[in-house]
Amino acid sequence: MLLRLQKGLPSEQIAAVLGLAKQLGYRAKFLDEHSEILSLEGQGRPDHRSRFEDLCGVRSVIDAREARERHERDGRPDTVVRVGSARFGGGFVSLIAGPCAVEERDRLLEIAREVRRRGATLLRGGAWKPRTSPYSFQGLGEAGLEMLAEAKALVGIGIVTEVLDPRDVEKVAEVADMLQIGARSMTNAPLLVEAGRSKKPVLLKRGFQATIREFVLAAEFVLAQGNTQVVLCERGVRGFDPTTRNLLDVGAVAHLKRATHLPVIVDPSHAAGRSDLVRPLARAGLAAGADGLIVEVHPDPSEVHSDGSQAVSPETFSAIVQDALVLAALDQKRVVLAENVLAEEVAPRAG
Ligand code: PEP
Ligand code: MN
Repeated sequence: MLLRLQKGLPSEQIAAVLGLAKQLGYRAKFLDEHSEILSLEGQGRPDHRSRFEDLCGVRSVIDAREARERHERDGRPDTVVRVGSARFGGGFVSLIAGPCAVEERDRLLEIAREVRRRGATLLRGGAWKPRTSPYSFQGLGEAGLEMLAEAKALVGIGIVTEVLDPRDVEKVAEVADMLQIGARSMTNAPLLVEAGRSKKPVLLKRGFQATIREFVLAAEFVLAQGNTQVVLCERGVRGFDPTTRNLLDVGAVAHLKRATHLPVIVDPSHAAGRSDLVRPLARAGLAAGADGLIVEVHPDPSEVHSDGSQAVSPETFSAIVQDALVLAALDQKRVVLAENVLAEEVAPRAG
């Protein structure tokens, strides 16, 4: 490991850095006459980098090759996250689709059937919604969870739903096949830890103001609990221009595929905030290397209480599935479709 210390560090702070190095079993040696670049040799562990970064007097950890964190690629093959029939990573692309929120039973069942027959292997839908205003629709809570359980039983599709409160993890995990941790909760350490302990696959969304480093460290909270089933989701970061809801960071997708072994998916719906841009952003995400998509789909957005303006029709979802088949093939990846996917939906386009 290589550390850069602050210039002119008092000797007691240098001693503290050397003390921690010794405690962690490293042999320390300064590489320059000003005692600023410190080389540490020894057996690293995933927590060591943060331990040194937290020390006052350490300006940066220049190289932490021997103390790799759990999310790091480090020559490892892709982690494949399996959720029901869905597979993310390792050459597999899967599609998650459904309403923003669970609102009405019959509608939910209808959407579940629609997205499944069009190729989605997982149904999304929030029972608890993290809203910006406390006066907005907050989701149906447990009643919504029951509807998701019913959709799973009747339609035979896996469920992805958000958990907002660490105290609800157990309850949500009874129904959900994958726990969604939303952008607003990305830094909620107790929630990340509980989700990690549950050993359920976790869909972790990037906070809209989070750096990539903060994002992977949020994943690290889950991984550190021994839960390796983490899918990262880029859903757009806050930009300066209100024309789109967020800025889809396709650079982050390409980077994360290289820097981590975890699957990365894209949420074009929350990035765009507008239904007409969802399909092009879905294409962009897949072209950048995403291992899947999570898309908000609703046949009648005029009736919904959250995110209606970004919901695409089931027909547009089919067009996105078609795009995914083409784009995945470019990267020698395979799109995993629900078994009884509409034959005409996967037929090659004429011309
Ligand atoms: C959602 O998926 O409905 C959602 C609230 O997303 P995000 O956490 O990315 O805003
Ligand atoms: Mn939404």
